[in-house]
Amino acid sequence: MLARAVREYVLWLALLSILCFVAERIRPWRAQKALRKGFFEDLFWLAWNGEFVGLGVLWAGTRLASLAARTGLLEGLPDPDSFRLLAGAPLFLQFLGVLVFKDFVEWWIHNLLHRVPWLWEFHKLHHSIEELDWIGNFRFHWMEVVVYKSLTWLPVAVLGADGRALFAVAIFGTLIGHLNHSNLAIGWGPLRYVLNSPRMHVWHHDRIPRGGHGRNFGIVLSLWDWIFGTAYWPRSGGPERLGFEGMESFPAGIPRRLAYPLTRRGIAK
Ligand SMILES: [Zn+2]
Ligand SMILES: [Zn+2]
Repeated sequence: MLARAVREYVLWLALLSILCFVAERIRPWRAQKALRKGFFEDLFWLAWNGEFVGLGVLWAGTRLASLAARTGLLEGLPDPDSFRLLAGAPLFLQFLGVLVFKDFVEWWIHNLLHRVPWLWEFHKLHHSIEELDWIGNFRFHWMEVVVYKSLTWLPVAVLGADGRALFAVAIFGTLIGHLNHSNLAIGWGPLRYVLNSPRMHVWHHDRIPRGGHGRNFGIVLSLWDWIFGTAYWPRSGGPERLGFEGMESFPAGIPRRLAYPLTRRGIAK
């Protein structure tokens, strides 16, 4: 069942990737090469994070849960599946409920990735992007998956939503994530106060950390940034340079980037 969902997700991932790649060729926002610097490395991150890391975290989570059950560690604690807050609601409402609630939790996690120094070290990989396009959506450290999954698992589990609603949220999240990073001049018009976009997310990748820790932490929804005063959206254009201060000494190449910051060996002097 789960293996089938993973297979279907990978098909959707391929489809959405091709769609964004083609759209960028037809109506690009900035003048950029398709095979820009780091493109082939990003193909690795797409395959690695799109398929293997999620499965690894799932496997580790299942192992931990059965270990906890065997040792009686969770005895007396309520079963999160028993709350089932959204169970029985129409599927579309379940989709909306999971989308909004999960995105809100993820907005906080993304804030933490920027504000907690050791978490920022892991998040630097995503911000090492120098030219934004759809594929940058999957350039992130495997530890981010561990952090996001472990902190969103419980809040999502208590909702008790149908697997189909969870799957639709995953696909919709991938579509908006791909678009946020794509080289397309999309701003969603009046919907910009609700939905994140390429025009908004590009400022999250600005080399200058606006407001100290950066701005526009939204994942799928921009709503939280507008509500909590972390939105930054000048009238036109984009940042002069993407990245982060000091990125010249960030390790290059996949093996070093997989290991950083757990081992700091190999960092350019
Ligand atoms: Zn970030
Ligand atoms: Zn990004």
